[in-house]
Amino acid sequence: MTRLSTHDAIITGAGPAGTSVALTLARRGWAVAIVEKSVFPRRKVCGEYISASNLALLEQLEIGEAWRANAGPEIRRVGFFSGETCAEAPMPPTKDGPCEKKDGFGRALGRDILDCLLLQAARSAGVEIFQPCRAVAIDRDGDMQMVRIQAGNETTMLRAPVIVAAHGSWEPGPLPSQIGKTNRPSDLLGFKAHFTGSSLAPDLMPLLVFPGGYGGMVLADHGRLSISCCIRRDMLARLRKQPNHQSHLSAADAVSRHLMESCRGVRDALESAHADGPWLAAGPIRPGIRSCYERDIFRVGNAAGESHPIIAEGISMALQSGWLLASELASAPSGSAGLQAAGRRYEAAWKALFSTRVHAAAAIAGIALRPGSASLMAAIVRNFPQALTLGAQLSGKTKPVPGFV
Ligand SMILES: Cc1cc2nc3c(=O)[nH]c(=O)nc-3n(C[C@H](O)[C@H](O)[C@H](O)COP(=O)(O)OP(=O)(O)OC[C@H]3O[C@@H](n4cnc5c(N)ncnc54)[C@H](O)[C@@H]3O)c2cc1C
Repeated sequence: MTRLSTHDAIITGAGPAGTSVALTLARRGWAVAIVEKSVFPRRKVCGEYISASNLALLEQLEIGEAWRANAGPEIRRVGFFSGETCAEAPMPPTKDGPCEKKDGFGRALGRDILDCLLLQAARSAGVEIFQPCRAVAIDRDGDMQMVRIQAGNETTMLRAPVIVAAHGSWEPGPLPSQIGKTNRPSDLLGFKAHFTGSSLAPDLMPLLVFPGGYGGMVLADHGRLSISCCIRRDMLARLRKQPNHQSHLSAADAVSRHLMESCRGVRDALESAHADGPWLAAGPIRPGIRSCYERDIFRVGNAAGESHPIIAEGISMALQSGWLLASELASAPSGSAGLQAAGRRYEAAWKALFSTRVHAAAAIAGIALRPGSASLMAAIVRNFPQALTLGAQLSGKTKPVPGFV
């Protein structure tokens, strides 16, 4: 049986981008629906670090207190682990904004907790949540658009003038805003795991550079260490082959062994640690700048554009792009011309805020992924550790969010 329901805006995906836009619009009186295919809480491939520049926005979304109560320690140092090199430098603090609680440094919070906090806040703000439900089609219907959503055998049609794609970028699918499949040797696949009992310094977030990839480690909530990385598809295939064996190593075993063998800092930090749950995999990731408004669909978070996770700014970009879009939509006159003008203003604001960090991340990742460059990078940061502080600054970690300065 097919049901029909009408809203002012429908958002596909309840990651930080989707909930940020949904919450902001709902608080301004919009009737909003979110469609999320997964059951929460769910773990996610992500390093889970959030820059302090987001704190005022988290306050605005009314999860600031909960974030402070749950997130891991302040990250005051940025590090570099590669081969035998372990270097570090100060993390640049965020400049004081109007947020009274002056948090100058970022912290990490597991996505199983963060995404639930945001979705719960959206629910409290009146957002109607369809979960677990997958959006499978979007079609125009006069001035409105129809989104077909499915939960098992049940289909529901949602109708709204505004559709926001917040479904991320790592899974192909039938929606016009989803990206096609790729299968190239250079594709980067994402991995992540939690450990307890690690000896990583609580205020240090090291960048990991190893043959065929890069990653990071950080102490998150409840003593959990979050370790995540991206590795080239062809390198992973090579690592999984076991000499003199018919069988292949699992991808997770191959990745964790490679990280331990190629970074002394990872070996040391995990020496007495225990895995807290299995390794997760995702991807390939799709770094780059996409359209913010195309085929009458607004895009936020990774759906609009994605920086290489080497700079750990994807959650910030997701939260902030949701906020930027909601601010434009809330002041737009109704009708197609009003939405198109909002789309143009949102795209300009998106580029002004995020283009530099997407390009900086691509440049840093390009160097890290070049064969043999790990030892060159190690030599540079050993002699000039301030390069790490500069990299953190270029990646937008201290850039204020418009509307909060
Ligand atoms: C290895 C790695 C480490 C990273 N580390 C960090 C870090 O430390 N800090 C940081 O800021 N960023 C980090 N990132 C990036 C960050 O994870 C992403 O940029 C961020 O999750 C994007 O948020 P989003 O809301 O756009 O999408 P997502 O978080 O991907 O959320 C999309 C949601 O949409 C749902 N969905 C998808 N398709 C449909 C559909 N058809 N119907 C309904 N629901 C759907 C999904 O289930 C999901 O819940 C990392 C990424 C990788 C790969």
